[in-house]
Amino acid sequence: MVHVTRIVIIGGGPGGYEAALVAAQLGAEVTIVDRDGLGGAAVLSDCVPSKTLIATAEVMTGFDASYRELGITLACDDQGDEAGRRAISVDLGKVNRRVKRLAIAQSHDITQSVTRAGVTVLRGTGRLGGGGQAVDGSREVVVTAVDGSTQSLRADAVLVATGVHPREAPDARPDGERILNWKQVYDLEELPRELIVVGSGVTGAEFAGAYQALGSKVTLVSSRDRVLPGEDPDAAEVLEDVFRRRGMNVMSRLRAEAVKVVSARTDVAEGPSSPKAGKEGRVGDRVEVTLSDGRVISGTHCLIAIGAIPNTEGMGLEEAGVKLNDWGQIVVDRVSRTSAPGVYAAGDCTGVFMLASVAAMQGRIAMYHALGDAVQPLNLKTIASNIFTDPEIATVGYTAADVSCGKMDAVEIKLPLRGNPRAKMQGIRDGFVKLFCRPGTGIVVGGVVVAPRASELIHSISLAVDNNLTVEQVAGAFTVYPSLSGSTAEAARQLHIRKRAESES
Ligand SMILES: Cc1cc2nc3c(=O)[nH]c(=O)nc-3n(C[C@H](O)[C@H](O)[C@H](O)COP(=O)(O)OP(=O)(O)OC[C@H]3O[C@@H](n4cnc5c(N)ncnc54)[C@H](O)[C@@H]3O)c2cc1C
Repeated sequence: MVHVTRIVIIGGGPGGYEAALVAAQLGAEVTIVDRDGLGGAAVLSDCVPSKTLIATAEVMTGFDASYRELGITLACDDQGDEAGRRAISVDLGKVNRRVKRLAIAQSHDITQSVTRAGVTVLRGTGRLGGGGQAVDGSREVVVTAVDGSTQSLRADAVLVATGVHPREAPDARPDGERILNWKQVYDLEELPRELIVVGSGVTGAEFAGAYQALGSKVTLVSSRDRVLPGEDPDAAEVLEDVFRRRGMNVMSRLRAEAVKVVSARTDVAEGPSSPKAGKEGRVGDRVEVTLSDGRVISGTHCLIAIGAIPNTEGMGLEEAGVKLNDWGQIVVDRVSRTSAPGVYAAGDCTGVFMLASVAAMQGRIAMYHALGDAVQPLNLKTIASNIFTDPEIATVGYTAADVSCGKMDAVEIKLPLRGNPRAKMQGIRDGFVKLFCRPGTGIVVGGVVVAPRASELIHSISLAVDNNLTVEQVAGAFTVYPSLSGSTAEAARQLHIRKRAESES
C-alpha cells in the first residue's frame, strides 16, 4: 500500500496556502484551516489592500509633483488656484470599495486554485491537540467551526502559519471610526481631513505618505530620530525630506502616550498641534493624542501603527513542545522546523522577516522538508524588500548597518538619481542607487534603490547578489538609454574604479 502523508496547515495566508499547493503537488493529503479566508491578512487586510490604496496615491503624487514642470495645464490653473485647492481630488469611498473588491476577488481566486489542487479547505479556528505525538508519530489538530462545532484531524506533519495582529496600547484603543488600526481604514467613506499617524516604521510611513498624497493633512509621530528606523539611513533621510517638503508634520523622538476621541469645541477649525482644539464651539468628534513631552495634538483621525503581535496564544503550542521566544513568536530553523517533531511554522508568526514572499518561501521549504523533497534552507541575505512610499525604497542583501558594524567587509557607492538623464526627463529629483561590493573580488553583496518603482529596479541587483556577480559583470550588461536602471550600471562602473583605487593604495 502506498503511504500518503497527511498534512494539516493552520492559517491560509501566503505561508499557508503556498505550502498547501506545494504539498498537494508532491502527492500529500492536505487540509488547510483558516478562520478568515484564504489569502490571509496579506490579501484581505494588509499587503494587497494597502498597495491598492497606494496605487491611487501614487497617481495623485506623480501628477501633483510634476504636471506643471511637464507642461500640463488644468482649467483650474488658468483661473488661478483657489487657496489650498488641489488640481485633482479623490473619492475615498470609491477607492476603498475598489480595495475591498480586489481583495475579496483575490482571496476567491486563491481558494479556487487551492481547491482545484485537491486541498481540503476548512473554515474555522485550528489548534494543536493535547498529548503530543501519537505512537505512529502523528499529531492532532482540533478545528472549531464558526457554529462552535469541533472536529479532530490527524496529521503526519502540521504547519502553523497563523500570522499576526496589530499591537494595541492600553491608552490608545482603536474604535474603528476615529482611532484606527491599519485593517480598519478601508471602512472610511471620506478622506480624513487631519490624520495623525502614530508609528514611523514601514506601515506608518506607507500610510502617512499615501494619505498625504490623497489630500489629508498628516502628522507623523515617530519615537526615533528619523522615520524608518532600521532601514538604510540615507534612504530614510530622503523620504523624511520629501515628507516635510510636501507639508507633512514629522514629529521625532516622541511617543504617543494616549489617544482618545473628544467632542471638540472650537470656534475655528484648528489643525493638528493646535493648543486651542477642543476648547470652544462644537465642530464634532476629533481625536487628541497626548505625547511623551506632555503636549496634546489633535486631528480628525488617528492611525496606530506600532507593531504586531503573533497569533500564537491559546493554540496549544507550548503544550505540544513548540518553543516560543519572549515576543511569543515561534522559534524555527532555516527549514521551518519548530522544536516539536512534526510541527513546522512559517510566516509572520515566526517573526523571521515579515514579508509575504518570505512567508511563502518558509511554507514551501517546510513542505519540501516534511515530504522528503530536495530543500534549500532559507537564505535571508538574498531577500529583496520594498517600502511602498513615494519615492519607493527597495533593498537587497547586506546593508549599510552590516558594513558599519563589521559584519560584512564591503566598499560602497551611492549615485544620486539627479544626474540620470531619464530622471531629468521625468522630473524625478529625489532618490539614488547604492551598491555594496566585496573589496577584493568585487562581488555585489547588497544594494538600495530609492526611486519611483524601485520595487521593479531592484531586481537586477537582486540577481547579482543571488548569483555572486561582480561589479564588472553588472557594469558590462547593456541597459536601455535613457533609463533609471542605467544608474545601476553606472554605480557598478564607479564601484569598479573605487575598488581598484582602494586596492592600489
Ligand atoms: C499594512 C501592511 C502592508 C504590508 N505590505 C506588504 C507588502 O507590500 N509586501 C510584503 O511582502 N509584505 C507586506 N506586508 C506583510 C505581509 O502582509 C505578511 O508578511 C504576510 O501576511 C505574512 O503571511 P502569513 O501567511 O504569515 O500570515 P497572514 O497573511 O497574516 O495569514 C494568516 C492567516 O491565519 C489565520 N489564522 C490565525 N490564527 C488562526 C487559527 N488559530 N486558526 C485558523 N486560522 C488562523 C488568519 O485569519 C489569517 O487568515 C504588509 C503588512 C502590513 C501590516
